[in-house]
Amino acid sequence: MSIKVKFWGVRGSIPCPGPKTMKYGGNTACIEIRFPEINRLIIIDAGSGLRELGNFMMANDFKNGPINTDIFLTHTHWDHIMGFPFFTPIYVPGSTLRVYGPVSFEGDTLEKVVGGQLTYRYFPVRQAELAAQIEYFDLKEGEIDLGDGITVTAKYLNHPLLCLGYRIAWRGKTVCTAYDTEPFRNVFCTDPEDPSYDEGMASEGELVAQEQNNVLEQFFSGVDLLVHDSQYTQEEYLAKFLGWGHSSFEHAVATAERAGVKALALFHHDPMRSDDQIDSLSKKYCVRAGEGDTEIFFAREGAEREI
Ligand SMILES: [Zn+2]
Ligand SMILES: [Zn+2]
Repeated sequence: MSIKVKFWGVRGSIPCPGPKTMKYGGNTACIEIRFPEINRLIIIDAGSGLRELGNFMMANDFKNGPINTDIFLTHTHWDHIMGFPFFTPIYVPGSTLRVYGPVSFEGDTLEKVVGGQLTYRYFPVRQAELAAQIEYFDLKEGEIDLGDGITVTAKYLNHPLLCLGYRIAWRGKTVCTAYDTEPFRNVFCTDPEDPSYDEGMASEGELVAQEQNNVLEQFFSGVDLLVHDSQYTQEEYLAKFLGWGHSSFEHAVATAERAGVKALALFHHDPMRSDDQIDSLSKKYCVRAGEGDTEIFFAREGAEREI
């Protein structure tokens, strides 16, 4: 009994194909989570990596019958939905897709946000012309029973747009995604020299941030595989990217280790980061299986893991 996880896109922000990103890959977020024994497949995110996954499914799964799958979107930033119009199964009669994800603005349904990419303004095919049966579910925090013993628990992360982490559990095995997110911070002024400083507010803010970070750690405590946002080094994060909604390697590693995570995949690589740079960062941050309590590795497009 096993869950197979395959990375089809590991980049953040924008696809970045080219000679500098051949090893780790240039496609944006898309993860295949497969349950071979019960013939089920869940997809997390519809970044540009979804196109190749769709081609793979048409060449392999389709031989055994029409495509029937669940797609969970972490959020609707473009790098996480841009692959949807290029997912071949949406054009094939008999395909059944259930698309789940959070929506930030009332009145904008998930169908409008994701399917809205399929309008003549952006794309030659309209949503109404798709052959597949597609159902959309606007998600909030909570647990979903997908049948066959699979549960998916959704939890809000810390990102400028409403964004969900997912914890997928089946027969005692667990995979968790926590991206795009950055650590919760004190939202009140912490500088005693600043005229707006208030000691009570500052310590209350500190407490709330700590509590929220603890809740998130609890969410992925003990999982077999955690896929965590780690776009920056701590130095880069503090110098330039506070509030951008992404984490540092240092934060991802520390939080995974405290939570007793078995394996941590560093994910949502900065598009500016070359293979050589990731290789040298690997020397600093990665821990091989058996060397420490938490195995740590950089997610690579095409890599598969069995848990
Ligand atoms: Zn992103
Ligand atoms: Zn985002």
